[in-house]
Amino acid sequence: LKGKEQVEQKIRKHQLTVVTNSELATFRDCPQLHHFVYREGLRPRLRARALALGSVLHDALADGYRAGYQYLDDDTAMRLQRQIVAAERAVDRGIARWFAEREIADDFSDGAALDAESLETVALVKFMARNFFEATRADLSELRLVAVEKPFRVPVRDRVGRVRSLWSEGVMDLVAYDPLYDQLVLGEHKTLTGDPRQLEKRVEMDPQTSGYLYALRELHQNGELRFYGTDEPVPASAKVGRTIYNGLRKAMPREPGVNKDGHVSSALIDTTAEIYEQALQRQVHERKLPVKEQQLERLEALRARAAGYFARTEYARTEAEVERWRWETYTDANRIREAERDPTRRTRNAGHCTHAWSMPCRYKAVCLDPDAPELRAEFRVVTDRHTEVVEALEAEGA
Ligand code: SF4
Repeated sequence: LKGKEQVEQKIRKHQLTVVTNSELATFRDCPQLHHFVYREGLRPRLRARALALGSVLHDALADGYRAGYQYLDDDTAMRLQRQIVAAERAVDRGIARWFAEREIADDFSDGAALDAESLETVALVKFMARNFFEATRADLSELRLVAVEKPFRVPVRDRVGRVRSLWSEGVMDLVAYDPLYDQLVLGEHKTLTGDPRQLEKRVEMDPQTSGYLYALRELHQNGELRFYGTDEPVPASAKVGRTIYNGLRKAMPREPGVNKDGHVSSALIDTTAEIYEQALQRQVHERKLPVKEQQLERLEALRARAAGYFARTEYARTEAEVERWRWETYTDANRIREAERDPTRRTRNAGHCTHAWSMPCRYKAVCLDPDAPELRAEFRVVTDRHTEVVEALEAEGA
């Protein structure tokens, strides 16, 4: 404890640097953007839709996990049901808050359209959460829950393991324990617009989880990990193991259309094999029409792409990858410090804001004319630059 207090004192005295993976990523994207976001603390008054939905979904999954691990003596079906109910309640709360924010910010022109959009969004996010828990029900018997939305703050040690001037903060989506392998498992939830199996191609180069695995090791070595809802520590023998990436597609299946002759349409449609099959059964039993060859082909095609809305990818990162994260974090933290001290180091990466496939930078106006104070009125100013960590800490303490 004494050592810990000394470090805390050091931090207060020297204003040492604390970074998050998002902060590092922002600096790597564009040092000027990093300055606006993390030094001036400028944040758009209204959260972008994708960010808001991502945050509602994360809250829903966290509530669902907690509910599923609350009454361990219940059978799996009952626990799954609790997960879905808790997640759906969180979706109702989160979406109501997001649409209230939009109303306050006057971000709509037509109240009826806003209501319709709200209902559609609730249905979408509820489907994503429900589908997630149904697809991962095996976790309930195979994994023990340690924490969800776990905030952390750990020192980034130097080459020889000493605590120096750099700390890493963040929030882990999920930490679990796999008793079969005596392994701590890190879970990350990612939303995607297309096929969630694309995640397989992206995980190798994901620097964020290397940092989280580093932090998980620190927390475990310090004996800070307990099983959810208990005082029971995670076994000291447990190794920090694999990362599970949960890919959730931002889409929900649609009911197939029915042609004028009463047959279910076999046109290409975004749905699941189960929904299509149910529609075919209604065609046969209610409308007395036999299933056509073309419809069977459509059903087979839908079965073949079973993982259309959710996919899980597991990845084991090597020690070398985690070590690489450590020294790259040191290097980039130094670059951040230099850019803080000397504005001429605060370069702009116009390549980032002009990427054809990315959203326009929301800081473009203030970037073009940094001395126009009225442009800053578009933003709110946050006092703590790592707001996501502060929110997770508050939720943990609540
Ligand atoms: S507009 Fe471009 S150069 Fe300016 S802060 Fe944004 S990303 Fe950076």
